Formats: sequence, structure tokens, C-alpha cells
Amino acid sequence: SFGKLMSYLTYKARANGIAIQKVDEAYSTQTCPVCHNRKKHAGRNVLCACGYTSHRDIHGAKNILSKTLYGNFLPSAVAEQTKYLRPC
Ligand SMILES: [Zn+2]
Repeated sequence: SFGKLMSYLTYKARANGIAIQKVDEAYSTQTCPVCHNRKKHAGRNVLCACGYTSHRDIHGAKNILSKTLYGNFLPSAVAEQTKYLRPC
């Protein structure tokens, strides 16, 4: 269950001096960080009409990081490197 996972993560993080912060993930996978257009994406890649592209998992993670640090979805300077275990 999610509660059990949070309890385990909190326990392990505290044991290593790491703070846990919950972040609302709403729209993190749908929102373009460049033009803030919302769209449900199908497939592995996020393609926005403004030209922004990203792998969907990296896109969501970068949006959550941006929301945590800056309070909004902003374009990230984090380099994106995707390595697939299986070819697309
Ligand atoms: Zn866009």
C-alpha cells in the first residue's frame, strides 16, 4: 500500500538525515513547462505544439522537481539522457 511505502521511505530517509517532502503531482505529466499547455500524451514521448519534446517519465520527474523548487512548472536545465533497456 502507498501508506506502507511512505512509512518505509520516511524511516529510511530519516535514518540517513534526508527530509521527505510531499508534492502534489497533479498535471505534472500533462503540462508543458515551456508554454504551460495541458494535454494527455500517449506513448513514451511528450510532444507539444510549441516544439517541446521529452520522454514522458523524465518530463514528469522534471516537472515535479520544478514545482518543488520554484512552485511552478518551468523549463529545466537538467540534461536529459534516456537509456532504453529494450529498443523502442
Ligand atoms: Zn509547449
